[in-house]
Amino acid sequence: MLELLPWQTSQWQLLAAAISQNKLHHALLLTGPDGIGLGHFANVLAARLLCHQAGADFMCGNCKSCLLFNAGNHPDLMLLEPEETGKQIKVDLVRELIAFMQQTNQYGRKKIAIFDPAEAMNRSSANSLLKTLEEPPADTLIMLISHQPGLLPVTIRSRCQRLIFHPSYSATTISWLWQNAGTNDIDMAELLEIAQGAPLKALQLLEQDPIGKRQSLLQDLIDIRRTNVNVVKIAEKWLSFDAEQVLLWLMSFFQQMTHLKLAPGNPQTGNSSGLPYLQELANELDLAGLVACYDEAAQHYQALMGPFNLNEQGVLENMIIHWQTTGKHS
Ligand SMILES: [Zn+2]
Repeated sequence: MLELLPWQTSQWQLLAAAISQNKLHHALLLTGPDGIGLGHFANVLAARLLCHQAGADFMCGNCKSCLLFNAGNHPDLMLLEPEETGKQIKVDLVRELIAFMQQTNQYGRKKIAIFDPAEAMNRSSANSLLKTLEEPPADTLIMLISHQPGLLPVTIRSRCQRLIFHPSYSATTISWLWQNAGTNDIDMAELLEIAQGAPLKALQLLEQDPIGKRQSLLQDLIDIRRTNVNVVKIAEKWLSFDAEQVLLWLMSFFQQMTHLKLAPGNPQTGNSSGLPYLQELANELDLAGLVACYDEAAQHYQALMGPFNLNEQGVLENMIIHWQTTGKHS
């Protein structure tokens, strides 16, 4: 039985009000960081809309429609995703969707499609979808899931109602992590901070010693500026940590350094054990250099998240060289 995740209630209440007034928008764009549970939310909503139990808050779990949903083959629900992670959602699949949307629904409720992730659509896929968004058939809902909505064409974005899921650091989220982590020996608040407020990602990271890895990454940042390091070796190590995760951590380090540069001794977040080191690095660099490092990391991150097949090792080497050569404060 699908349950709503505790940090998603405000978005849910917004939609529940629209559903009860029969005013749900025909296209929703769900955005937020990876690991915040956008796909989960889309599924909870789809199950609720397909369920035959009138007026229930969530799926009933017992009706014919719910049984089909739980079995993973509801005929009125279509999931559009790339064949492999990082690949494109091709136009053929969108054409299938258009045909699917034209048919009458089989179980008397709605026809629902979920794109996950929507930015995997290539240009012709997006163009095909646009026509359906402009003239949606009756009783249909399209949900676009996106961690990088900036990569979607404006024409698509502007035709959807946007639902934003922000990182969550709340006490409720931390207590959900305690309940679901199956361990007591870790500081969940710090883990959540490392996962940038994305609780499902925090759970995934749990197995991989994220606190140790992030400390080691910070040590590397110091070494890169202090000693003559082997760029290729460091990039290899970072690659073994996961390139995207490393870039997210770097973004958060550079952001904290920028903050510490502007307001020395006054950290943005409370429980970062690396604070003295970040302050020291912030003192050495000028503001423009720090901002440029953040931008560099953010650009590399977006590039890796996009539908391109980039050489991650090369991306990380470029990042290291950028950091190594950023001008010291004179
Ligand atoms: Zn049901």
